[in-house]
Amino acid sequence: MSGLSRRDLLRNSAAAATLAWGAAARASAPVAKTQGPGVYRLKLGTYQITALYDGLWPIPINDDFIRNASRAQVNKALETDFLAPNILPISFTALLVNTGKKLILIDTGTAGQITDSAGTLLANLAVAGVSPKQIDTVLISHFHPDHINGIKTKDGTKVFTNAEIQVPEGEWAFWMDDSNLRAASGTVHKYFLNTRRIFRDIAKDVRRFSPGGEVAPGIMSLPAYGHTPGHCAFMISSGSDNMLVLSDSVRDPSLFVRHPDWQPTFDMDGPTAVDTRRHLLDRAANDRLLVHGYHFPFPASGHIIKAGRDFELVSVQWTPL
Ligand SMILES: [Zn+2]
Repeated sequence: MSGLSRRDLLRNSAAAATLAWGAAARASAPVAKTQGPGVYRLKLGTYQITALYDGLWPIPINDDFIRNASRAQVNKALETDFLAPNILPISFTALLVNTGKKLILIDTGTAGQITDSAGTLLANLAVAGVSPKQIDTVLISHFHPDHINGIKTKDGTKVFTNAEIQVPEGEWAFWMDDSNLRAASGTVHKYFLNTRRIFRDIAKDVRRFSPGGEVAPGIMSLPAYGHTPGHCAFMISSGSDNMLVLSDSVRDPSLFVRHPDWQPTFDMDGPTAVDTRRHLLDRAANDRLLVHGYHFPFPASGHIIKAGRDFELVSVQWTPL
């Protein structure tokens, strides 16, 4: 043992430990009060995709949260993923696509209008080095408030002043219809009013698209109905690389990747939403597609693998560019 006795080694390591503890004590620092920025970039062909974190909204789960699963089953699924019972942590992550010529934002976050613990999208956009007026196109998946509220500030000012706003025709037809508004109650009624707050005075600037075609360079819209009547997913393609943007067809992965048949109350048409979810998850697994889920844990992208009849999410690994 190269000249050092066991006793020497013990003495040396004890001295090293004393030094380390002493150094740690002298290096004390205040505990940080905020998290680091929520910006994650990845390469897709020649495109750059940037995930922009908007925050987290923990919501209590009640007994009828899922129409065809009990609270005990939901809590078991949460426990499997080391999450607390009776609370669903809803994460929000929008996507910025830089094609090299155009900047496209897919969904716009909560704008701090839903919960105090969300609303960081614009701050993270600034960290990404982009100002709202640089955005050329805003693509909307559906008209729930957590996806459209970022179009305007609380006081009604347009945020993306130079952007063309594109929305699914089916969403516009459903949510802007006054007879549907009159028939609605509770939370859904509030969603109708919010849709009018966002869109009524900018209606002439909003372009409506029928899903199935190209909505921006390299971005196809895909019908993904069920969560809402006109809900859309998107496929971003550059070179031979593709990313399937699931929007809200597959929400929190602990519940709906693992249990795609579960029908939460926030899917307006439960059986149609299940068909859509299974179709997109199957496609993602079979074609080994990179996917993004608006409510997946940040950076909200990964791959889907089959697990028996159901699925698992394998999150992306933080990778330098
Ligand atoms: Zn949503």
